[in-house]
Amino acid sequence: MKSYEYVKDEKSSRTRKSWDDYFMNLAELAAKRSTCDRAHVGAIVVNQDHRIVATGYNGSVGRKTPHCSDVGHAMREGHCIATQHAELNCISYCAKEGIPMGGCVIYVTHFPCLNCTKALIQSGITKIYYKEAYRVDDFALHLLDINGIDYIRVEPED
Ligand SMILES: [Zn+2]
Ligand SMILES: [Zn+2]
Repeated sequence: MKSYEYVKDEKSSRTRKSWDDYFMNLAELAAKRSTCDRAHVGAIVVNQDHRIVATGYNGSVGRKTPHCSDVGHAMREGHCIATQHAELNCISYCAKEGIPMGGCVIYVTHFPCLNCTKALIQSGITKIYYKEAYRVDDFALHLLDINGIDYIRVEPED
């Protein structure tokens, strides 16, 4: 005779978060670490096993550069040039640690800029999930379309 029995709780399956909500919520959480308040952006790189391989947010590079939130923005032609974007911070981390990004997907709170889009394409990312369609660059869309990389809007529940 078995020492156990299966008891199904109807509520638990209904309240379970989807992968998209889960990862986008985590990207929103990463964005809260951003030190350049010109754009609070967070990103999460996820592999095919639904494992997180990198997280990133907008902030200064290296260990010694002061943060915009401490010393102010280094402005040139209307842009803060001190900050590295969340997506590039993910890519840099993977490069440093030798983590392959080919076949991974990225969850970003804001649609990537043109530079980040190019870097993401080169890194082997297959899909971009974003929440805010903020300043969507039409050339970035063009590059994603040519290269068959999907970009999908996600509006997560809390
Ligand atoms: Zn800044
Ligand atoms: Zn960018």
